[in-house]
Amino acid sequence: MRDTLRTDEGAGPANIAGPQTRSQVAYVNPISSPRGAPSAWIPLYRPYLCGKEKEYVNQCLDSSWISSRGAFVERFEAKFASLTGAAHVTSVCNGTVALHLALETLGFAAGDEIIVPTLTYVASVNTIIQAGATPVFVDSREDTWQIDPDDVRRKITPQTKAVMAVHLYGQACEMDALVNICEEFDLWLIEDCAEAFGTYYKGQHVGTFGDFATFSFFGNKTITTGEGGMVVAKNKDHLDRAYHLKTQAVSPDREYWHDAVGYNYRMTNICAAIGLAQLENASSILEKKRQIAAWYQQGLEGLPLRLLGEFPDTTNSYWMCSIVVDDPDVRQPLRDWLKAANIETRPVFYPCHTLPHCKAEGTHPVAQSLSARGLNLPSFPELSLESVTAVCTVIRSFFRSGANER
Ligand SMILES: *Cc1c(COP(=O)(O)O)cnc(C)c1O
Repeated sequence: MRDTLRTDEGAGPANIAGPQTRSQVAYVNPISSPRGAPSAWIPLYRPYLCGKEKEYVNQCLDSSWISSRGAFVERFEAKFASLTGAAHVTSVCNGTVALHLALETLGFAAGDEIIVPTLTYVASVNTIIQAGATPVFVDSREDTWQIDPDDVRRKITPQTKAVMAVHLYGQACEMDALVNICEEFDLWLIEDCAEAFGTYYKGQHVGTFGDFATFSFFGNKTITTGEGGMVVAKNKDHLDRAYHLKTQAVSPDREYWHDAVGYNYRMTNICAAIGLAQLENASSILEKKRQIAAWYQQGLEGLPLRLLGEFPDTTNSYWMCSIVVDDPDVRQPLRDWLKAANIETRPVFYPCHTLPHCKAEGTHPVAQSLSARGLNLPSFPELSLESVTAVCTVIRSFFRSGANER
């Protein structure tokens, strides 16, 4: 009998770059493709499931350990801690609730302010609001795209309780400066490392500097579990409290006895099974991404744009190969040109202070400019040299065509 739910027959691994993503089925532009365009659609992202993912998931099914109990959860957590050097970790069901759990564990009251870069994914800001605190937005640095420590200093008030550093697109924030500020003003430091598995600052993995750090394992993140996340704490008491809240605040020795407003933020054994297999391949995934970034760097040389590269003291994990075009008016036409050539791109996030539900006073010119000029190019680990070359060729053809001169 035919399995009617399957729509991806013969199309290879599912493309789960996000809700706007097009079908995985090869898409050939019916009109005319720019010269050098690939004949099949190149998505922004596609998870790399080339290790023991299937074998481990089958072990879950065969053993019937499919919920959050089962051996893979602990194995995944232990492997994650050993790879990153994180002191204390607990897995959760996505990167957003990881942030929420960290914030709820620290505990914030109405009026408390948490400093966060306006140029970030909305989850960083939503969870601050959900935790009852007020986000205070700061600008980013033009060169690294990361939170600007000088602007953090300027925004500190007597109400400031914490700084949330977001390591954006695989790059690292300036941790020495941020750690110093947080010590000087007695602030919690939370690191949103959703986009920064494999990212180092001065040889130390990000997520090990702050009081809390969080990771995401969504399908398009460097390491995936489908949906998933990790909470990292520097201090064991913090982790124990986070674990308590994650598991419905149930007493460890008295059944159905709950002593706080808890959550069910647990990761399933199936997700952890995928994650363990991913971590076993982490170094080869990171190596492939570094290679892809180097190909782009070479292929895009001399064009009126800049690739977000690597900076002194940091190791970029190149979650995304991100570029900023010099002229903001060129960004959308370039995206359209690439789309017509079967190449998916994504714009850089809108600055969160401009979103309707987070609207805040103030201007953040660097974040605004990066947001208007930035785009992400296909960045998945299996991307071939041929595909990267095709993307670069199409970008060159755009600038040669004069389409950028309106
Ligand atoms: C992906 C992401 C998150 C949220 O992770 P989910 O697993 O999608 O909930 C949070 N912050 C940043 C910066 C992200 O990129």
